[in-house]
Amino acid sequence: MNDGQYLFEQLVTADIGEEILAFVAEIYPICRSITGHGVRETLRAIGEHIKLEVHEVPTGTQVFDWGIPREWNIRDAYIRNERGEKILDLARSNLHIMSYSVPVRQRISLEELKQHVYTLPDQPDLIPYRTSYYAENWAFCMPHRLLEGLADETYEVVIDSTLADGHLTYGEYLHRGEIEDEFLLSAHVCHPSLANDNCSGVALLTHLAKRMAGFRTRYSYRFLFAPGTIGAITWLARNEDHVRHIKHGLVVSMVGDGGGPTYKKSRRGDAKIDRVLTHCLRHCGLTPAILEFSPYGYDERQFCSPGFNLPVGLFQRSQFGQIPQYHTSADNLDFIGADHLALSYHLIASAIEVVENDAVYRNMVARCEPQLGRRRLYGIIGGDKDAAAANMAMLWVLNLSDGQHSLLDIAEKAQLPFSMIRRTALVLQDHGLLTMDEASEKKVSQSGGDCVPATRSSGN
Ligand code: ZN
Repeated sequence: MNDGQYLFEQLVTADIGEEILAFVAEIYPICRSITGHGVRETLRAIGEHIKLEVHEVPTGTQVFDWGIPREWNIRDAYIRNERGEKILDLARSNLHIMSYSVPVRQRISLEELKQHVYTLPDQPDLIPYRTSYYAENWAFCMPHRLLEGLADETYEVVIDSTLADGHLTYGEYLHRGEIEDEFLLSAHVCHPSLANDNCSGVALLTHLAKRMAGFRTRYSYRFLFAPGTIGAITWLARNEDHVRHIKHGLVVSMVGDGGGPTYKKSRRGDAKIDRVLTHCLRHCGLTPAILEFSPYGYDERQFCSPGFNLPVGLFQRSQFGQIPQYHTSADNLDFIGADHLALSYHLIASAIEVVENDAVYRNMVARCEPQLGRRRLYGIIGGDKDAAAANMAMLWVLNLSDGQHSLLDIAEKAQLPFSMIRRTALVLQDHGLLTMDEASEKKVSQSGGDCVPATRSSGN
């Protein structure tokens, strides 16, 4: 038995939601993009909690079919009317500037200005989030109501930005377990002031890594904080020979709202992580959405590209693009809550509990049921409320512990939470009724998780 059997209890503490929320509030004001000082500042904040390794990859570096773009930084941006009043100011919201806007300093008419403004006519009070990473352009983003109220006059537009050779920056942290096999946990760090997407994911993973640092695990856990798409592509390009160690993975984004929970399966569809998340979400007391893989979404697109085909799924609360706050100024600190963050954290911790502790056992009294009453084993697990379920768990564990079924297999068949099945197995083991199968490790690791790149195996 490894220390992991207690990992879940150690990971979850009462104040975890508040701690994550406080870190979200700390990094929320930073003006991030896919490159630049905002990413560095965010990684520095993460690095105050965990020993983060920060990588700088120069502009122009080829990463598969992509190149590292020039680095973008912004100091100031505003629009002034003829009376010299700032009608829009970057200092008031990072979303006011389309990310990667090239520098501008000119006087233009309202008609010209309108060519460089994004609004949301259906949500007239919100600022949209827009980017133009790979096409040189500039634009302001503002509430539609503000645009409609602008007088027909000349405006001074200033964008004090730089787009120059520099670096793409990402950070990673490895928690070393007993084995080299890894669980990858990834969050994008490229969005500016959007609380749920994805300060919530960054903050949750930072605190999970921080909690985990104190104890031993069986798996190694790799935490990746990289800009969306280009960051994941860069990491994969630089770690191509390493990814065979990744046996489970989750992309974590939008975990601070009260929706979902949502799990989008890996491209494989039957990876162990897909089974684990499906199981954990079905027992969380809410109505989860379990989605099949699709090639649209977050960085699972890269991890699940055919040449890698890694067992990596996407965990979210509300699904991206499905809520009115998505990619707008309404995705702010009021939109997320400590209780939602705590539940999201709890769900990821419960998935880790399964991955760490799934094992195959053998019933020592396989011919007919052992006499449980004589051993005072009825009602030994849980309170009165779930005594019936606990007794069923015992019967399921005894019946299916034939060296062929893992604890997760049993939990699925019994439709009971993995944690209850695991506690039951430990009690039965203490009473000499159960023993771990000698080949348990091999049998469990065979139930999903081996990396078989689709294109290579088919010779394309
Ligand atoms: Zn987004």
